[in-house]
Amino acid sequence: MRALKERARFLAILFIFLLVLPLVNISRYACLDNEELLRHPRNHYGAAESDLLGSIVDRQGRPLAFMKEGERRYPLGPAAGPLLGYCNPVYGLAGLEAQLSERLQGFSVPRSLNQALLLWDKRDRRGDDLQLTIDSQLQRRAYEALAGRRGAAVLLEVPTGEILAMASRPAYDPNFSALKRDWARLTRDPQAPLVERAGQGMYPPGSVFKPLIMAAALEEGLTNPQAHFDCQGRAQVGNFVLNCHDRHGMLSLAQALAYSCNVAFADLGMRLGMERIRQWMRTFQMEGRLSAVPGAVTAKLPEASNPSAPAETAIGQADTLVSPLHMARLAAIIARGGLDIEPRLLKAQVREGEEIIWQPPWPQPRRVLSAQSAQLVAQAMLLTVEEGTGTAAQVAGVQVAGKTGSAENPHGATHAWFIGYAPAQKPRYAVAVILENAGGGGRYAAPCAQKILKAALASQP
Ligand SMILES: [Zn+2]
Repeated sequence: MRALKERARFLAILFIFLLVLPLVNISRYACLDNEELLRHPRNHYGAAESDLLGSIVDRQGRPLAFMKEGERRYPLGPAAGPLLGYCNPVYGLAGLEAQLSERLQGFSVPRSLNQALLLWDKRDRRGDDLQLTIDSQLQRRAYEALAGRRGAAVLLEVPTGEILAMASRPAYDPNFSALKRDWARLTRDPQAPLVERAGQGMYPPGSVFKPLIMAAALEEGLTNPQAHFDCQGRAQVGNFVLNCHDRHGMLSLAQALAYSCNVAFADLGMRLGMERIRQWMRTFQMEGRLSAVPGAVTAKLPEASNPSAPAETAIGQADTLVSPLHMARLAAIIARGGLDIEPRLLKAQVREGEEIIWQPPWPQPRRVLSAQSAQLVAQAMLLTVEEGTGTAAQVAGVQVAGKTGSAENPHGATHAWFIGYAPAQKPRYAVAVILENAGGGGRYAAPCAQKILKAALASQP
């Protein structure tokens, strides 16, 4: 009898527990994690109510995404597709549309009593507008510069760290009719057109990593501007043989960067060692999250520990992975003489078309490199475009500084890279371009970066 009672009590407790568990779970979603639900790609509620959804506009207030006749419109089409993402009742939300959904619906910043009463009166609940730092003209030009390629381009405004363009190819048109037409192809395409590559693509850096290694070696006192390197076309590190793409002979430190000598940089890498290379990647903020660039990835720091790993890492091979945005930020740090400013994509959240109700905190410029080391790297990057591997990035009448890269990867031909900035003496724009499996950076990525810099330099006085 007693045993039966015990068992009944046990069962009663079990049933209560089973009842309470889902309740707790539901209230968790209702009370605590509702932001997560709002942003969930399968939550079409926001999209269905989307006549009230705020617009996304560029730095001049030109529309990038807006509601018209119950449908989300994207005037730039594929030029900003992977960046903006999409919003519609069938496919849900993606890209910035998903990441900013709460702001665009007007939920993220509480309304004043006045605003709330006004809304109650009007019976509408229009969301807020989001202003980006993007310049829609330059976004289009960056997209055009990538024509016929797979890859990405980032254009930064050097003095502010604002992102002016973030283009990715292959792309897609986020307008609903186009998406409906192309959906089956887009989701099956092995070239992954739905992926935003400029801030979220992860690539081996190849030789565009060398400015970082040069800066680190200078700062650590492991080399100096008078240093010379003797390149006989190959270097033996332990039992690993590292080839240079040329037999450079005697090179100064600046020439080693300008001609992208693997032998010289393998040497610098070995002097630095893995721990210091990782530390310098952290110093250059490659591991940091960007509060004003939703979705941007953090770099993958190298973990390799074989004896030749520092040499391979220094020439951008081994297991390091970075995004084009990381590399544009590196170019901008050199352009600013060693000052870092956190890149930004979000500019302001605007309510009722006029009131700025939220802005990301203005980033404080931070010195990550001495002005002296930054200047030495800058001079070598100038030499790279004047007479080294980056001559295809030259712009008539303006001095361009840059660095090419050709990153070996396990998926076919090398990725072509270029990072740089202009004008070299008073930098305004920094750029990073990657073309997947295109071949040499000097031949393919440098002319593409040149087009983007040229467009930027022509855009304003
Ligand atoms: Zn060499």
